[in-house]
Amino acid sequence: MSKNTRTNNQSNENDQGPEPKFFNNNQERNITNIEQSIQSILEKVSIKRLRQYLNTLSDFHTRHSKSPILNDAGDYIMNELRGLGYGDTSFHSFRATIDNEIFELRNIVCKKKGIDEKLIMVCAHYDCIMNRKEDSFSRAPGANDNGSGVSAIIEIARILANENLRHSVQFVFFSGEEQGLLGSKSYAKYIKESGMDLYRLINLDMIGYPFFAPNTVIIERDNNTDVKHNHVKKNDTESIEFGEMMKDMTSAVGLQFHLNTIYDSDYESFEAKGYVVIGAYDGSADPIKNPHYHSSSDLPENIDWDYLTSVTKLVLATVLKIDSINSY
Ligand SMILES: [Zn+2]
Repeated sequence: MSKNTRTNNQSNENDQGPEPKFFNNNQERNITNIEQSIQSILEKVSIKRLRQYLNTLSDFHTRHSKSPILNDAGDYIMNELRGLGYGDTSFHSFRATIDNEIFELRNIVCKKKGIDEKLIMVCAHYDCIMNRKEDSFSRAPGANDNGSGVSAIIEIARILANENLRHSVQFVFFSGEEQGLLGSKSYAKYIKESGMDLYRLINLDMIGYPFFAPNTVIIERDNNTDVKHNHVKKNDTESIEFGEMMKDMTSAVGLQFHLNTIYDSDYESFEAKGYVVIGAYDGSADPIKNPHYHSSSDLPENIDWDYLTSVTKLVLATVLKIDSINSY
């Protein structure tokens, strides 16, 4: 994520927005049941596993998009997912120009088939940088940005491997995010052209260091008033409602929440194609106040593991909830 003090973008503090129109009586009753079954699945989230994934990712000298080492990290993620039983995991390759040089980059796409083709995407970028943006040789551990998001998704994939869902799910890992959302732009174009029914998208970018406020997750919705960050209007309301759904789950996982808008991460590539997107974020992309941001000190030792575990549970709960809502 390359931001200029992200937390000070236009923020409509906790605006409640339009009342979600999801729940009729029947669904009210079913929600309680859903929450109980969701709760038992959430308990499977393992802090030990999250540590294992994130430590391994941060051990790569760098995951800069111009460095060949990024491919080693990509292979690691691919093998981890295949090891979990996801045979349908593949690279989505694309060409990108970075600093006037052409690079072959790879996104990783892991597919979980559901009963129908309606698609829920959970995504995060796996590349990283340190403060000299073009420097692809220096040590860049990228633990929080964005090893935290990648680790959470691998763990969610592990737990969902044994769950039968109504909708299909894609766990997607982008490269080239720090150079301008290169991977997600390429994949969003592919999704649009292939006519896939992308129903909902959750983007995770920096979820391991509760910088905005203790134990607080920022839920980002598609209602930015700046058109640079909100290209399409017709998908705004559903995004706000989807954000409400994630908000409703925060208490179940012991988190506080702050509502804000999407801003400068991979969800924007899909928002611009008209899809319904939200994001989860910890508020720490602040080059002035956060000394670890885009630096060689963005290490696992600065991760709040309980917080990362709670946000991982929140995202898992939101996927299970949006999947269950439509089955009634
Ligand atoms: Zn990032």
